[in-house]
Amino acid sequence: MRALNPTARDLRRINRRTILQAIHAENSISRLELGQRTGLSIGTVTNVVAELLLEGIVLESGFEASEGGRRRAILTLNLQYGYLLGGEIGETDVIVELFDLTLKKIGEIRQSLEHGEPSQVIEYVVSGVKSLLTSSRIAPEKILGLGLGVPGIIEYTESGEVAAPAWNWAPVPLKAMLREHFAFPLHVENGSKMMAVAEMWSRSGPPPENMAVVNIGTGVSVGIISQGKLYRGATNSAGEWGHTVVVLDGRPCRCGRRGCLEAYIGAPGIIQRLREIDHDSPFLQPGDEIQTLSLLIAADRQGNDLARQIMRETFRYLGAGIANLVNLFNPQRIVLGGWLGLLIGEYMLPELQQIIAQYSLPQPLKAAHLVISQLKRDSVSMGAASLVLENFFVNVGALNTSTWPTPAQ
Ligand SMILES: [Zn+2]
Repeated sequence: MRALNPTARDLRRINRRTILQAIHAENSISRLELGQRTGLSIGTVTNVVAELLLEGIVLESGFEASEGGRRRAILTLNLQYGYLLGGEIGETDVIVELFDLTLKKIGEIRQSLEHGEPSQVIEYVVSGVKSLLTSSRIAPEKILGLGLGVPGIIEYTESGEVAAPAWNWAPVPLKAMLREHFAFPLHVENGSKMMAVAEMWSRSGPPPENMAVVNIGTGVSVGIISQGKLYRGATNSAGEWGHTVVVLDGRPCRCGRRGCLEAYIGAPGIIQRLREIDHDSPFLQPGDEIQTLSLLIAADRQGNDLARQIMRETFRYLGAGIANLVNLFNPQRIVLGGWLGLLIGEYMLPELQQIIAQYSLPQPLKAAHLVISQLKRDSVSMGAASLVLENFFVNVGALNTSTWPTPAQ
């Protein structure tokens, strides 16, 4: 049977993680302030900091004056200790980005995806990582891990099987395929879950305990933060909000079923509706969803009747979908993200808020605050890098113990 109480080793790991997270959040902090912020005893703080200094993860970067004339050492993360790689396999391109430990972006490679074949995806990720490391002159040993956001359901197995409905992938062992190229830790995760992690790490102040990060683009899904943690469900498929049914036997969805939310608020659904009403609409830009939706939303803002009709219909479904999240999860914060979420933007929030209010129960509605994501289009890569950082904080010190898997031969 599993012990209910954490072992001394667990406690040590938890303390190290807590202290590293506090140093990361504050940029620079004294031992005394660390104790105050984390609630750990000064003895524990002193011991953990001594280990982190010895391992070179943390540095003493100067002193601050204090009452009584004693000078207190200021602690910071050693930014040269390691670097993070985050990437996104999008529906149209592959992005790989390099970050430092403060999640500041150092470099970026973006390549267009002609088809979603797994071999092409792997090739782009591998070449992207290699050219980033070459141009930044960072040795592969300095990389603390690579996180990759992928559209679709990621089964949680050792090989990181991926099912990507957008490309009709049969389950593909993406992580195992990447393992042939990289020795550092790998994390493959659904893009919306990565976005939710990025939202947790990116805003100043303590992150909300309960948050729904809505990702709207070609596909539609949500990342749920529940009690401060990413909610995964039994087999890691939680968050397929786009495939909740809003109209029984409604429009066909690309998942093969009918009446899913995605068929109404995802870009292809909105464009199809536009085409049904006006086949020759000047807003229609064949093969370019982003441009079509940009024109449509701009026209709505300028008072165009057709654009108004379509966006109003879309908002009714989107508002009802968000109200379902409010009623189900009782979040404090709902973040509207994804390229289409960003296009909708602040301008349309009041209208959307009204529709959400129409379909939500009053109690959870009162707690829920709707905002637009502050993160730009690379929020998935940043979230992927945040996941590497989080994992590093949990397993910190493992770098020298060779417990990480080595590449397959
Ligand atoms: Zn569906």
